[in-house]
Amino acid sequence: MRQSAEDGVVTGTGVREAAAKRSTTARDALARLLRSDWRDPDGGAPITVPAIAVEIERSLSGMEAEVVAPLHLGRRIAVVSDQTTRTVLGHRVESALSRLSTILPIVLDAQSHADAHTVKMLRHSCAAADALVAVGSGTINDLCKYAAAKDGKPYAVFATAPSMNGYASKNAAITVDGHKQSLPAASPVGVFMDLAVLSAAPARMIRAGLGDSLCRSTAQADWLLSHHLLGTPFRVAPFALLAEDEPGWMNEPEALLHGDLDAMRALARTLVLSGLGMTICDGSYPASQGEHLISHYVDMFAPPSRDTYFHGEQVAVATLTMARIQEHVLGAGLPHLQPSSMTCVELQRRFGFDIGEACWREFEAKRLTQNALPNFEARVAETWSDIARDVRNAMISVERIHDVLKRAGCPTVAADIGLSPEFYATAVRNARFLRNRYTFLDLADDSGLLATVYPT
Ligand SMILES: [Zn+2]
Repeated sequence: MRQSAEDGVVTGTGVREAAAKRSTTARDALARLLRSDWRDPDGGAPITVPAIAVEIERSLSGMEAEVVAPLHLGRRIAVVSDQTTRTVLGHRVESALSRLSTILPIVLDAQSHADAHTVKMLRHSCAAADALVAVGSGTINDLCKYAAAKDGKPYAVFATAPSMNGYASKNAAITVDGHKQSLPAASPVGVFMDLAVLSAAPARMIRAGLGDSLCRSTAQADWLLSHHLLGTPFRVAPFALLAEDEPGWMNEPEALLHGDLDAMRALARTLVLSGLGMTICDGSYPASQGEHLISHYVDMFAPPSRDTYFHGEQVAVATLTMARIQEHVLGAGLPHLQPSSMTCVELQRRFGFDIGEACWREFEAKRLTQNALPNFEARVAETWSDIARDVRNAMISVERIHDVLKRAGCPTVAADIGLSPEFYATAVRNARFLRNRYTFLDLADDSGLLATVYPT
């Protein structure tokens, strides 16, 4: 397994001065995790993750072939970009890797989506290639990751924007028959991040990455709630991995937009570690809870005329909302619960027949019925002080989240992501029905508190 340059084990060129400067080995969770030397805080055994070469450098210029060569990607490499990412970095990668292999440049249309049709086209274009190297961010990464997995080929990625946490994860977000799904894919064999390139990405993409990272706290709080109330297995590991870098991008969020490469390094590491955290937990639990359900509702039901927004921009707004709901529920004290009056027919009325039925199946798993109420109330009463303590420890305050988002110029309200307050309130009230994951949205609704924050 190739290790991160940051652990100082991989010797390289003078470009890696940043790695040398960092005092790494003692507390560098990423480097230690990649060499199976990071101990699980829950059990003490070292955690093993897929073998991924991770290089996060102030500049990778001139090092592209050097970092890819040890991966032995084969004689023919498809380098996949679009017109924009090819200009930003793709040409450079193609030219450097041509010293190693025959390059098949594949340039996707700028309007390409990560959908089944484009995956098919990409697999066809890459048929003669032994491996795929993505040069891009969300869409290109998802497409390559999924196409490579389908064909059993390795893939690596050169990131062009710090916009999402899916670089190191083993799932791909692909739209099939109009529905965005998180589908199993292969882990990359290499994730390469040139911090100068990431810093030059459009501001909105940097802000999106900030939003998709800031939800750490609301996701952790929701998962803890589910753990205490329903016994859902919870892991400390994904959050312990992120703790070291969180202050680096949160304390001076504006620095991310001003080309500060140290702040960008902290965000880049967070995005990679967040993806690895999902792999460790075999699911998106540590990075996707109530705030992602709200964003998911927006993806599914926002008016088609609305402009396009990045996932992380929506998550930024939804994280602020979830933090408010979480604070509100905790502040109200022991919840007084009512059984849910939701029915399959009502969900079908709200979401349409098929989606309504699918959502009912998800919701039924966690629906608070009249029969279940006494036991559940007892469980809430029994665990409430533990919930309040653990969630408060995990939470970042609403005030702080708002401050971080504002200072970075991130969206904070519905209008900032092209939505009316009415639509957004509907999204918040209905998001809980999309998935069986139990979050503060459920507890807030079943205790009547959601309606006080987001009235009908
Ligand atoms: Zn996300």
